[in-house]
Amino acid sequence: MATTTRRAKPSTATALEPVAAQARPGLRILHVASEVAPLIKSGGLADVAQALPAALRRLGHDARVCLPCYRKTYLEAERLGATWLSTPMVIESGGVDHKIGIAEVKLDGMPVYLLACNELYDRDGLYGPSAHQEYEDNARRFAVLSKAALALPGAIGWAPHIVHAHDWQTGLVPVLLQRGFCKALPATRSVFTIHNIAFQGAFPAHDMRLAGLDPWLYNPMHCEHFGRFNMLKSGIAFADRVTTVSRRYAEEIQTPEFGWTMDAVIRHHGYKLSGITNGIDPAAWSPASDPHIPAHYDADDMAGKAACIQRLREECGLARREDVPLLTVVSRLTEQKGIDLIIDAVSPYIIAGRMQLAVLGSGDLHLEHRLNALQARHPGWVYVWYGYNEPLAHRFIAGSDAFLVPSRFEPCGLTQMYAMRYGTLPIVRYTGGLADTVRDVSVGEGTGFTFGPIDVGHFSAVLDRALGLYQHFPAEWKAAQRRGMTSDFSWDSAAKGYVDLYQGMVFG
Ligand code: ADP
Repeated sequence: MATTTRRAKPSTATALEPVAAQARPGLRILHVASEVAPLIKSGGLADVAQALPAALRRLGHDARVCLPCYRKTYLEAERLGATWLSTPMVIESGGVDHKIGIAEVKLDGMPVYLLACNELYDRDGLYGPSAHQEYEDNARRFAVLSKAALALPGAIGWAPHIVHAHDWQTGLVPVLLQRGFCKALPATRSVFTIHNIAFQGAFPAHDMRLAGLDPWLYNPMHCEHFGRFNMLKSGIAFADRVTTVSRRYAEEIQTPEFGWTMDAVIRHHGYKLSGITNGIDPAAWSPASDPHIPAHYDADDMAGKAACIQRLREECGLARREDVPLLTVVSRLTEQKGIDLIIDAVSPYIIAGRMQLAVLGSGDLHLEHRLNALQARHPGWVYVWYGYNEPLAHRFIAGSDAFLVPSRFEPCGLTQMYAMRYGTLPIVRYTGGLADTVRDVSVGEGTGFTFGPIDVGHFSAVLDRALGLYQHFPAEWKAAQRRGMTSDFSWDSAAKGYVDLYQGMVFG
């Protein structure tokens, strides 16, 4: 199955004009996302929405970002010296006018626009009061975000060639752009990136009026999906190009197993779909300079790694057993991430004194309760920290021997790449971006361990393989660490993939 269906670009070269000499002007690209690190983050989307535009700027393009100004974002923006535009925009939604203030902050020189609207975004949560609950007016909140993002270029006097929208929260951007909502942007094209197809933003049909869309668009070819107004599907249907965050995930979402009811829609729009594997920010995630970890190290001198592991054991109250590997998890605690599988599989290894486990995350309550029980059964061998904690995430990843990501599906995943950067061997399910980024040690030149079918038997087998290598083949373990630490996971090649895509759209 083709992962990239980009049209071949007609060459404009002549015999007298070598291709390399055809300088193309820099592009203007507006990214629209519901979270952007370090201003506000609940998952990998925030990392991507910060790192991809930054990488595009390094390649000479004028990439900018806009996002809602949540309560925490507002505080962070103030700290970063935000400046406010004097005139707010007025965005109508379902007969109600919302005043949208615009603040600008610079992140390493990149303009980031915060769209402030007290009645919609000045709340503690991003999507709901807790991880288990959504705000009742999310359709309005994100319809207004999409409209405001398209009105922003007029307010700041800057017309992008491309508007690049991320995930369902911005799925109405391509629709509104194509339906002529923004008269100031007649030539602007749209890209829509699916970071996780399981989250679709499905609302009652009458919520379509919040975006001011014609009611006839409520049909299965456009905005309706199984009797709901679906913002993800709307984005897919109307975007000029659709991307996902790894090559393998672009294939997977065309199948019923991974498509979350959207597989036929994806296949239908396959001609404009491509998968571009995410990168990571090598400056923010570097064991040689990370301000959050207790000792620094690199691939040539790993002494600091042992110190990090020792300090994490102390911090987590784990038994001091240098002969036993410490495995960590930094994740949303959900079934997607295979947390139930970890709980089901690890007890025998812990009882046998073969591994220690530390988990950092928050999510489904039933998984938190089961993790509580696991910790209570194995004091000194299992540690769990509930909540979101960026510095601790760095200490977990640096301070462990192996890192678990047994996801049922994983569009890209960032933590396995962070782990490899820090010489922590990832143990991952062979799916999505995990399959694209982790090479199993058994196939040679490997950087981690992969397993296929998602059940306790196969997961236990891969744990056995990892523990075997750790205990009996330390030189091979070290070699795999070094390969992971020196692999190139930077954004540069992914950003070039997006530039090719944009240029194909703009220059033909
Ligand atoms: P997803 O976006 O599906 O949650 P990713 O692996 O793409 O998964 O990205 C998760 C991001 O969130 C990573 O940067 C990871 O370090 C971070 N993260 C997840 N849980 C926590 C937590 N409890 N504390 C700190 N960072 C976390």
